[in-house]
Amino acid sequence: MGIILKNGKLLDLDTGLLLSREIEIEEGLVRKIKDHIEIPETHNLQVIDLRGGVIVPGFIDMHVHLRDPGLEYKETIETGTKAAARGGFTTVACMPNTKPVLDTPEQMRYIYETAEKTGFARVLPYAAITRSERGEELTDMEALKKAGAVGFTDDGVGVQSGGMMRSAMERAKSLELPIVIHAEDETLSGKGCMNEGEVSKRLGLPGIPGVAESVHVARDVLLAELTGAHLHVCHISDASAVDLVRWAKKRGIHVTAEVTPHHLLLTDESIDGTDANWKVNPPLRTEKDRLACLEGLLDGTIDMVATDHAPHSEEEKQRAFQVAPFGFVGLETAFPLLYSELVLKSKLISLPDLVKKMATAPADVFGLSGGRLRSGGVADLTVLDLQQERTIDAGEFLSKGRNTPFVGRKVKGWPVLTVCGGRITYQNLPTA
Ligand SMILES: [Zn+2]
Repeated sequence: MGIILKNGKLLDLDTGLLLSREIEIEEGLVRKIKDHIEIPETHNLQVIDLRGGVIVPGFIDMHVHLRDPGLEYKETIETGTKAAARGGFTTVACMPNTKPVLDTPEQMRYIYETAEKTGFARVLPYAAITRSERGEELTDMEALKKAGAVGFTDDGVGVQSGGMMRSAMERAKSLELPIVIHAEDETLSGKGCMNEGEVSKRLGLPGIPGVAESVHVARDVLLAELTGAHLHVCHISDASAVDLVRWAKKRGIHVTAEVTPHHLLLTDESIDGTDANWKVNPPLRTEKDRLACLEGLLDGTIDMVATDHAPHSEEEKQRAFQVAPFGFVGLETAFPLLYSELVLKSKLISLPDLVKKMATAPADVFGLSGGRLRSGGVADLTVLDLQQERTIDAGEFLSKGRNTPFVGRKVKGWPVLTVCGGRITYQNLPTA
């Protein structure tokens, strides 16, 4: 059955104008975008009144932990993609640090088949760079590409050996897929549980220095220059790492980067060392680092926003700060948080630019469908209620994870309808 969206405002990403447009969706595609679409007397179309909601391309998150297979008590493909749909996302790329690690073609097929059966978003699996993410032996990257891997990453841990990374990049280059790095030198991060600095000293907690991240970024942009591979830097958080990416881009090295909402909005100053819902890796850093990430996002050094959605059980996050696992959930709060803080409050970024960072840029960088709305294109879209203001309540999450430091914040701009491939995956339109 087709869908007609009425009374919506289509956001023009080039001009920022909100255009009164009606959209007809059929067989997974946008059929028409017009001022007015006549509805025949007899039809079997679903007509949806958007009540002034703002229509944007569906968001794309290139960094999500779906925890499936093996860690289903934290999240499943079903619950993780329901959370994605609620957050306005139509495509998510899932990280391979599951149990077992996604390092075989069979595992790629498991993700695609399970997402097809139970999912509420398109799911693109990353494959591991090294077997079991142990850093010892490369995976069969060619077979993984054939099975649909969207890129290669050992996310969760850094690839410690420069030689291993060079070989991985050489293969990735020949396969024309990106190497996606969790930049962390373990000999520098050690047993740290938060950013190394004034706050960690005051709290007496072991720190992770920013340089644990930036030395890997330095090494890997140089290896990308040597090999010609596409390097994508995950969850950038350190000011020097941002400078290195800026330098590499100027030099013509094929490097792209993502930043999370939490690294754009929070610092280690808010950590009191008791609540592990503030524990994440890379850690929340200083105001200087936060401002560098913002600047990087605004000047194009950082291409896109990614959530690093990392659900854990309540029991795990209730453990002492030093021993609890790292990670925040992020899919259901990313847009309202960034819209409220960066578009409305600080006015640093425009609405169309934020949408580009969350939809168009990831599609362009990773060569995906979606990212923009046009007739004939895939019907992946999100409708936002920019007036709706609500407090973030973890009890409402569709994710199994409740672990976020943003609970209790009042934010505006909630997604009210998500359509993925012509199918309604989330709907919470205000009633008349
Ligand atoms: Zn990571």
